Amino acid sequence: MFITIINTYQPIQEIPLKNQQCLNCKKSGNLIMILYQLHTNNGFIYKVSKKVTGAIHCESCSTDIPAIKWTNDIEAIFTAAKKQAPIEKPTKIYKWPFKFLMIVIGIIAISILYFSVDSYLSNSNKKNILKNPKVGNMFNIHYMERTSLQKYNTQGFTWVRIKEIKKDTLIMQFYKDLNITSKASVDLSEHNFNGSIFNAKKNSLQTEEKIDEFPRNGNDYLGFQSTIYKYKE
Ligand SMILES: [Zn+2]
Repeated sequence: MFITIINTYQPIQEIPLKNQQCLNCKKSGNLIMILYQLHTNNGFIYKVSKKVTGAIHCESCSTDIPAIKWTNDIEAIFTAAKKQAPIEKPTKIYKWPFKFLMIVIGIIAISILYFSVDSYLSNSNKKNILKNPKVGNMFNIHYMERTSLQKYNTQGFTWVRIKEIKKDTLIMQFYKDLNITSKASVDLSEHNFNGSIFNAKKNSLQTEEKIDEFPRNGNDYLGFQSTIYKYKE
């Protein structure tokens, strides 16, 4: 079992019962009532509870009188004593496994929040751009460039920006770095988009979510083809 609860009863007070008779040896004046306060520990939380229990011991015959055998007098003494007992203040102490668990839950909660906000924002960026592409919109892409029908010459992971829009043609420009692989911060300022320029169809972006170069030298199979990963307004 993963969680084990350990109860301990801490003695807090001893009260001699001078006028009570032992049910076992019938002698009077030798009974002691001991009050205990319950402490619990489940490995995560150590709790000092406010629960008080009692036991009665006879010093004459060394036996314990079980609670079910207590007389009404003894019950009344116990009830009164319980109210006055010098108990330790009830408290909870959070142990390190609990704190660790809380930290892990906290980190998970923050991550979920961060990713949902991030995905919400990038989704709304994407919707706006697809609805109405504008000069300055940027796309994080994986591109391949084909300069002959036999092979792809280059490929990489970078950004492109809409430099100009002429009717249904988007004039796209590459970021200065044609292969962003490091985690170094990428400065998406306009002046950093000084790479190759190519034409793409506004309609392909809007309906197919593609930014492909359209006929380079009149050939549909040549030029840049890309997969869009992120949209930025
Ligand atoms: Zn006794």
